[in-house]
Amino acid sequence: MEPQRSPLLEVKGNRDLKRHLVKASSRLPLPGSRLKRRLDQMEDALEPEKKRTRGLGTAPTIATSLPRAPHLTTVPQNTAQKVSRKTGPRCSTAINTVVKNQKPVPAVAVQKPSASAVPPMVGGKKPSKRPAWDLKGQLCDLNAELKCCRERSQTLDQENQQLRDQLRDAQQQANALGTERRTLEGELARVQAQAEQGQQELKNLSARVLELEERLGMQEGLVQELQKEQLELQEERRQLTSRLEQQEGRLQASEAALSSSQAEVASLQQETAAQAALLAERGERLHGLEMERRRLHNQLQELKGNIRVFCRVRPVLPGEPTPPSGFLLFPSGPGGPSDLPTRLSLSRTDERRGTLSGAPAPMTRHDFSFDRVFPPGSRQDEVFEEISMLVQSALDGYPVCIFAYGQTGSGKTFTMEGGPGGDPQLEGLIPRALRHLFSMAQELGGQGWTYSFVASYVEIYNETVRDLLATGNRKGQGGECEIRRAGPGSEELTVTNARYVPVSCEKEVRALLRLAHQNRAVARTAQNERSSRSHSVFQLQISGEHSSRGLQCGAPLSLVDLAGSERLDPALALGPEERERLRETQAINSSLSTLGLVIMALSNKESHVPYRNSKLTYLLQNSLGGSSKMLMFVNISPLEENVSETLNSLRFASKVNQCVIGTAQANRK
Ligand code: ADP
Ligand code: MG
Repeated sequence: MEPQRSPLLEVKGNRDLKRHLVKASSRLPLPGSRLKRRLDQMEDALEPEKKRTRGLGTAPTIATSLPRAPHLTTVPQNTAQKVSRKTGPRCSTAINTVVKNQKPVPAVAVQKPSASAVPPMVGGKKPSKRPAWDLKGQLCDLNAELKCCRERSQTLDQENQQLRDQLRDAQQQANALGTERRTLEGELARVQAQAEQGQQELKNLSARVLELEERLGMQEGLVQELQKEQLELQEERRQLTSRLEQQEGRLQASEAALSSSQAEVASLQQETAAQAALLAERGERLHGLEMERRRLHNQLQELKGNIRVFCRVRPVLPGEPTPPSGFLLFPSGPGGPSDLPTRLSLSRTDERRGTLSGAPAPMTRHDFSFDRVFPPGSRQDEVFEEISMLVQSALDGYPVCIFAYGQTGSGKTFTMEGGPGGDPQLEGLIPRALRHLFSMAQELGGQGWTYSFVASYVEIYNETVRDLLATGNRKGQGGECEIRRAGPGSEELTVTNARYVPVSCEKEVRALLRLAHQNRAVARTAQNERSSRSHSVFQLQISGEHSSRGLQCGAPLSLVDLAGSERLDPALALGPEERERLRETQAINSSLSTLGLVIMALSNKESHVPYRNSKLTYLLQNSLGGSSKMLMFVNISPLEENVSETLNSLRFASKVNQCVIGTAQANRK
């Protein structure tokens, strides 16, 4: 690689080159001017002759046409060559012309050579002037001069050659310098590009500097803010330090208090451990007592009878005729009026006997005795008090079934669900029983029991089951509900397509009762008060668990509002509507008598219990047999006009009640 040369060196090199060229040119004019002088001298030497011949009119113009050698200031090679070439041949041509045109002319003209012309130097002596006639001598002189000229020419050639060499050197040098110049130009371009790049970089850097200055400004602002903050923090720290000191003082005091407290805690812990042991022992005893309570409660319920019958007489409603006095009587028990009423007497006039004898119809008295009789003035809460014991049994894990039996309008729905208008005083058994269950379950929660409740509500009309909790599209429709076993080999029964709704509070239960009421209303028609022609079955599946002791209990609580028990006179069944009503009534009567048969079969401990004879008994079979508790309300009307149906109801209830007594005695053995 060629070493880089500085521009200064280049300038110096150029100057050297110039100097060289000037030197060469300064040398060139020398031979040229000398040559010119010589030729001028020769011309001058020939001048007298010319002048002479002119006079003759024949003398040729020899030197006048000879061009003067150009005055060289530089050294163009061809010019130098031209000079040497022109000088030589022209000179000889001029001489030759002179010789050719030489006529025998007077020797004077020829003899007079110019003093300035180059004299032929023979033997270093200046030849003497030849006479005009001495042509030979002149020729000789001319030859000598020619020779001299040739020598001169030779010298000039040599000089020329030298100059050419010098010129070649100079050219080579010029070429080298050209190359060097191009290199330098390239270098210059590179340097310029570098300079441009540098400038660009400089521009970028100045932009960056501006940006950095801006950032610096921001940072300075930030620093000021931070400094301010730092001052604030320092102030805060000072405050905190003083607070810390205070706290440390308090801590020390607290530590002292703590150590004394620790001692106290240790003694308390001992005490607590003793208390915990005592508590565990008490818990154990409490559990034992709870189990004992359950056992005794059950024993009590069994003593009272697993099947019990309560009679409830509804009051005379406004607008209804007042029954004759003595129509319904509630005789006191053996303990007097303080005893809870259990007896009822109904007196009716025997119309037939009176007509036959012609005397006024005698009164026939019918006495009935039940587990409990509720006269017309009995309040809902009084009725429930008796029931609450059964509800407790359900919570303890015994199936409980409560029926309301009686003719339409005798107060079954009032007893089971309650009076109209949502009056809390008139709330029926279902909401009261559930409220009681929820509160008892909460109490038992303190002893480690957890309870869950799932409700269902169906009606059985004409031996078809229908969901009363249906919502959406199924609302108010008959729906295809079937009673099935929950699983193969399972004792549990379930109603297909019916909703089973988990409940945990009264509000939820009220919502369900409202929904059931709506569903019944949708199905009602003008001709047929269907709710009184169907059985409504509210069932609550109770599940309890004592996880720490691994105990479980579960039982269904069924609250059944039976269809009206009234009979229809077949003689009245004439039209299609009446015939339909007759069929309904027969279905109801059949299912009610099946219920009676089932109860009797159970109390007689018969091997076959005809549960399957009706949908009602089939659905309730798990709530009727075994250790289950059954209660039947027989609702009766206080009106004399209903006496026949009232008597029928009372007779049916008495039969059930007799069964109960039999069962109770059998249990007591
Ligand atoms: P059922 O369901 O047996 O057909 P209801 O329960 O519908 O009879 O009662 C018929 C009417 O008698 C209703 O208006 C009801 O409010 C009223 N009623 C029934 N029992 C009582 C009672 N113990 N106290 C006040 N009103 C009653
Ligand atoms: Mg009713």
